[in-house]
Amino acid sequence: MLFETHAHYDTRQFDDDRDALLSSLPDQGVGWVVDPGCDIASSRRAVELARKFPHVYAAVGIHPEDCAGYSAEDLAAIRALAVENPAQVVAIGEIGLDYYWPENPDRDTQKRCFRDHLALARELDLPAIVHNREAHQDCLSIVKEFPGVRGVFHCYSGAVEDAKTLVALGWMLSFTGSVTYKNARKAPEVVAALPLDRIMIETDSPYLAPVPVRGRRNDSRNLVYIRDKIAEIRGISPEEVERATTENALRFFGLGD
Ligand SMILES: [Zn+2]
Repeated sequence: MLFETHAHYDTRQFDDDRDALLSSLPDQGVGWVVDPGCDIASSRRAVELARKFPHVYAAVGIHPEDCAGYSAEDLAAIRALAVENPAQVVAIGEIGLDYYWPENPDRDTQKRCFRDHLALARELDLPAIVHNREAHQDCLSIVKEFPGVRGVFHCYSGAVEDAKTLVALGWMLSFTGSVTYKNARKAPEVVAALPLDRIMIETDSPYLAPVPVRGRRNDSRNLVYIRDKIAEIRGISPEEVERATTENALRFFGLGD
């Protein structure tokens, strides 16, 4: 069974078929789903989905693109969601830094929000799900301020060197459909260089649909294309990639026996 480590089923793109799609996933080879929130409302929706479906889990947090006006009350709301739903909330995320869009909240607010969430992850002993876009060095140095916190850099887009630093810090890396894109260069290089026990897979649905369904709304059934591409890059079987990435995710989110 595949483990979907990152999909936004709480978004409006799934309003027409969310429940039917989510209930059908275990029969289609996807045994677990983690839905990370991006603000308080979507974190709440993710928790509701996790309460409704036994194979769905939530992460709660404020995304760097959504942290404008971020305050201590916001963090308290995220904390309450995690504390009140310990069986559903398996991580703090999606958090991090995004310097790509010029209209994003200012960098100081992003950093403050990111640090506060990492401190929350440490306090609650939960892993962190990190979004990093065009902010590699700041993300890495902030992560290093929290040596006790484990996490994943989702949709990893950085260099092999930084990936090795993260692995040495005990972190994981996860890969999306972008590894299947023709212009993908860095991600396949990183996939080839990492120890297999540090790799997880995700679709980041509804975004980033892999080849051959690129451009459509993405969903977790497309994990097979990412699994197969990683198998091809590493020269091992898809079954081996599936077994390893699922074991890694169960261990990472604390869902093993
Ligand atoms: Zn995401």
